Amino acid sequence: MSSQTATANPTALSFRRYKDGDHKPGPWQEEIFQASWSHKCPTYVHRTAPCQASCPSGHDIRGWLAIARGQDKPAAGVAWQEHAFRRMTAANPFPSVMGRVCPAPCEDGCNRNEVEDRVGINAVEHFVGDWALANNLAFDAPATESGRKVAVIGGGPGGLSAAYHLRRRGHAVTVFEDKPELGGMMRYGIPGYRTPRTVLDGEIGRILAMGVEVRANTRVGRDVTIAELESGYDAVFWAIGTHSGRPLPVPGSDAPNCITGVDFLRAFNEGRLKGVTGKVIVVGGGDTSIDVASVARRIGHITHAHPKDRPENIIFGQTAHDVADSATREGAHVTLTSLFPVEKMTAAEQEVNDARREGVDIRGGIMPLEVVKGEDGRAVALKMCKCEMDGAVPRPVAGTEFEIACDLIVSAIGQKGDMTGLEALDNGRGFINADKLLRVPGHKKHFVGGDIVRPHLLTTAIGHGRIAAESIDRFFAGVEEDRRPRVDVVHFDLIDRMKERNVAPEPFVSGGEGHRGTAAARFAVHNYEDRGPHEVVTHEDLFLGHFPYTARNVRRHVEIGPDDVLGNFDERLVALTEQEVMAEGKRCMSCGMCFECDNCVIYCPQTAVSRTPQKERATGRYVQTDYSKCVGCHVCKDVCPTGYIQMGLGE
Ligand SMILES: Cc1cc2nc3c(=O)[nH]c(=O)nc-3n(C[C@H](O)[C@H](O)[C@H](O)COP(=O)(O)OP(=O)(O)OC[C@H]3O[C@@H](n4cnc5c(N)ncnc54)[C@H](O)[C@@H]3O)c2cc1C
Ligand code: SF4
Ligand code: SF4
Repeated sequence: MSSQTATANPTALSFRRYKDGDHKPGPWQEEIFQASWSHKCPTYVHRTAPCQASCPSGHDIRGWLAIARGQDKPAAGVAWQEHAFRRMTAANPFPSVMGRVCPAPCEDGCNRNEVEDRVGINAVEHFVGDWALANNLAFDAPATESGRKVAVIGGGPGGLSAAYHLRRRGHAVTVFEDKPELGGMMRYGIPGYRTPRTVLDGEIGRILAMGVEVRANTRVGRDVTIAELESGYDAVFWAIGTHSGRPLPVPGSDAPNCITGVDFLRAFNEGRLKGVTGKVIVVGGGDTSIDVASVARRIGHITHAHPKDRPENIIFGQTAHDVADSATREGAHVTLTSLFPVEKMTAAEQEVNDARREGVDIRGGIMPLEVVKGEDGRAVALKMCKCEMDGAVPRPVAGTEFEIACDLIVSAIGQKGDMTGLEALDNGRGFINADKLLRVPGHKKHFVGGDIVRPHLLTTAIGHGRIAAESIDRFFAGVEEDRRPRVDVVHFDLIDRMKERNVAPEPFVSGGEGHRGTAAARFAVHNYEDRGPHEVVTHEDLFLGHFPYTARNVRRHVEIGPDDVLGNFDERLVALTEQEVMAEGKRCMSCGMCFECDNCVIYCPQTAVSRTPQKERATGRYVQTDYSKCVGCHVCKDVCPTGYIQMGLGE
């Protein structure tokens, strides 16, 4: 419309569905077949699925579930599991570890919760990750080297994820790791019955085989200085985690047998600590406290142990228990206390239930007041009282004090970074500050991620590794842009999917076919809009009526009773079978992306919608609309279960 016309008649409507006085609907049959006419026609709009938006590592979950159900097919000669593994590892190179110990925030976000139950995303990841290990799948080394060198400090999930994503981009990577082995808290925190070491070694080995240099037993800040890193490398990524446990903030916590959870687990995971004393109190409520309590129940109480074998002497000395095989071993009495009521503890519910079943006495809503010491200065009891939480602050309830006798107190109330030698980067609270691009403010060419920014989950540290690798890449390219997408994940890319099927658009040649009237042009993807980077599709955008009740395939969990836990280090989680995994793939509702159900083709009253010819198809390009037939009735949009169709064209 020209501005002249607009001024002449500024209130004229360009479209009216009903005439004045037209109050009664016509015959319903007419309504159904014509629905209503509008100037809008369907267009295909991709939005991010909420499962993916809830996964901190940014997994293309919907994409690999489509592979698991057989919709997105692999190239000839490739197993579907490998196809799924490649899609998974575009974001996260640890599917087998994640499939076991990630608390799966993706499943909380899953729209299928609105139908009957979430999709078992984590279980599919577990199965595919294990299949990839069993079949020795490897990552390709980069085809070309960029000539840039990056120092990664810390070989935990954050550092290894960054190393992987940097190598994919052709940058040389050296990982500096304080400990003899890589893995960070996956190895020195989480016990092996949750992350089996064969799985861990397999997933780490695959990353190293891309050509990552490792300098183990090398502590930056002691063996290497920041200045040396700055002169030797083009960028530095800090992923040093939080390895300083916080002692209990009560009088008497300096007793020698008051230790921290990270020290306890490190000594256990290094194979030095093989038993505890009879009565153990663990103070916490999060993942670390559950692991300490569960390990204590497994290693048990070594009776008649020499004082040199007391847990604190093992944990702080560099000696190891050698009495384990000869001494009599009994179950230890383990009490876990939490400020919050048990149902509000931050540890994963399954872990809490397991610990309880295995005989850990879990008591919520109580706070420590004082460590009671014996004549020799060692703790003999923990004085506690009931408390009420005022936000995160416990308020003691007067007159409720009591004591729990103990031989060992383990504080698992939080950690911070060990910044010795790294004071220049310390934000004063034992952490390193980061901006949105994970750059360290005020420190050019320094980037940071994982727990040392904010303690959270493995998947979060892995996501940080990916984002930091991208930021480092941009830094090398001299790109100044400092925004991240609102939905910060590894996005579905229609062109990639079209390339996989050899149906990608032709290259655009400037001045060629002309820039107008592109409906038939082969260089454009028509009537497709990608809102993935800024929109998440909600259950209200879906047609949920399409999905009948289908029970979730639940992994079997080996339940260990209090009498069987001593000396039991077997894995508790049993992977689903291939059939069960494929069935979970079918339960996925493919939120925000066409899953080829044919509803729009079947229900369009005008037969305007048809399947894209087989030779032009790719995921996301399964149906097409003949706009000369479309009357804008929006039936296709209404029956689309996935929310992929929007009535937008013509607006
Ligand atoms: C006991 C426990 C149980 C947990 N359970 C779960 C769980 O079930 N699921 C889950 O998702 N998350 C869990 N977490 C959280 C998860 O382990 C962390 O969020 C994650 O490991 C953080 O990764 P990161 O790479 O930042 O640090 P880390 O894993 O801590 O790795 C940091 C690495 O840096 C090294 N390092 C430190 N300082 C230096 C230095 N100066 N020079 C060289 N190297 C250095 C360390 O040795 C370490 O290897 C748990 C944490 C703990 C402690
Ligand atoms: S890493 Fe965790 S949050 Fe992400 S898909 Fe796997 S289970 Fe879900
Ligand atoms: S139904 Fe599928 S795509 Fe939708 S949120 Fe759940 S797992 Fe993701």
